[in-house]
Amino acid sequence: MEAKYEMHLDYLKKQDEVVYDAIEAEKKRQMEGIELIASENLVSQSVLEAMGSVLTNKYSEGYPGKRYYGGNEQIDVVENLAIDRAKKLFGAEHVNVQALSGSPANMAVYYALMDLGDTFMGLKLTEGGHLTHGHPVNFSGKHYNCVQYGVDKKTEMLDYDAIEKQAKEVKPKLILSGYTAYPRAIDFKRFREICDNVGAFCVADIAHIAGLCAVGVHENPVPYFDAVTTTTHKTLRGPRGAMIMCKEEFAEKIDKAVFPGLQGGPHDHITAARAVAFGEALQPDFKDYAVQIVKNAKAMAEELMANGIRLVTGGTDNHLLLVDIFQSKALTGKEAEHALELAGIYCNKNTIPFDTRSPWNPSGIRIGTPVLTTRGMKESEMKEVSSFIIKALDNSKEEAKLAEIKKNVKEFCKQFPFYK
Ligand SMILES: *Cc1c(COP(=O)(O)O)cnc(C)c1O
Repeated sequence: MEAKYEMHLDYLKKQDEVVYDAIEAEKKRQMEGIELIASENLVSQSVLEAMGSVLTNKYSEGYPGKRYYGGNEQIDVVENLAIDRAKKLFGAEHVNVQALSGSPANMAVYYALMDLGDTFMGLKLTEGGHLTHGHPVNFSGKHYNCVQYGVDKKTEMLDYDAIEKQAKEVKPKLILSGYTAYPRAIDFKRFREICDNVGAFCVADIAHIAGLCAVGVHENPVPYFDAVTTTTHKTLRGPRGAMIMCKEEFAEKIDKAVFPGLQGGPHDHITAARAVAFGEALQPDFKDYAVQIVKNAKAMAEELMANGIRLVTGGTDNHLLLVDIFQSKALTGKEAEHALELAGIYCNKNTIPFDTRSPWNPSGIRIGTPVLTTRGMKESEMKEVSSFIIKALDNSKEEAKLAEIKKNVKEFCKQFPFYK
């Protein structure tokens, strides 16, 4: 098969071979390996070209039509395009596309909707939440009083009645849903109810599942939530960055929190790439992509479970699986991640709910299907990928065997070229 995209770095090659070599070697790693990191994706040539454009040269503090610098005519075109496409994609009333990344997007929403020291609720990091959802080492846990909720011990899934009960006691100003390592569908409607019952702002961080939400493969909370943040580089398959979508009534507060509250100039080259990516996501084939991501995840779940692997919650509804590797194979997450890496298979160690081990060496690994699906793989390939995973885990201490698997992985990946 032919590669879909051909990257040209001719000038860089001549001018700075050291950086060029590192980029080429990284591209080779991406193409020759099985990428299972659930938060990653592969962007199109158009997204790469927009990111690599002269828009990086511009300063445009402010918003379209209201800039603190001259010469922003074309930047306004691009930013308005990104906003309009995002509105269409998610049914949003208001969109801010300037947040530099997922974490600062969350910071901006907290800053807009709460006072420092206010109480909010977010899911524990060890049970699937993100650092910015109130972890004590993060600004979100330091600047706000975060009372965290957890998953049910038996089902390892969200227990909405328990969350509601806790919210009635805690009386938070804001309740955050949307996660980093939660393999199941989120009942956003139920979260809206809970927030209404306790008078809390209803906010979601859909960084991981945005691509699924955009096309209805996962319930999309944007039309009826107060504010929703997302990264643009995960399942949404755009450039590294983020955006905030909110109801019109919070628009001014959110925009002010981003600029001048938190940031200076927006990254206009990334804004252009966001516009391109949203344009791609509005095409009918993006829905096919999102549907296939979930089919692939389910196929991999079935195959792994048939081979004696325990998945947290016993399966998946989205793009990711959380594997209890300690119980399944008597390996720690760190050992499993390392063994898989030696076999050319990339994932990340991850805590599992009620983990008895440390976050640095937890009991689980997290794997996802967005990258492999972008490369064109389907359910039958998930079987092969699963057998590579099992083989590597079963030979985790045998470097020669892992090196042999890596060769086979490379051959396998050749069938799905993406960047030349
Ligand atoms: C990835 C992620 C973020 C952070 O995004 P960065 O761009 O890495 O700052 C925030 N929230 C959730 C739920 C995420 O999964």
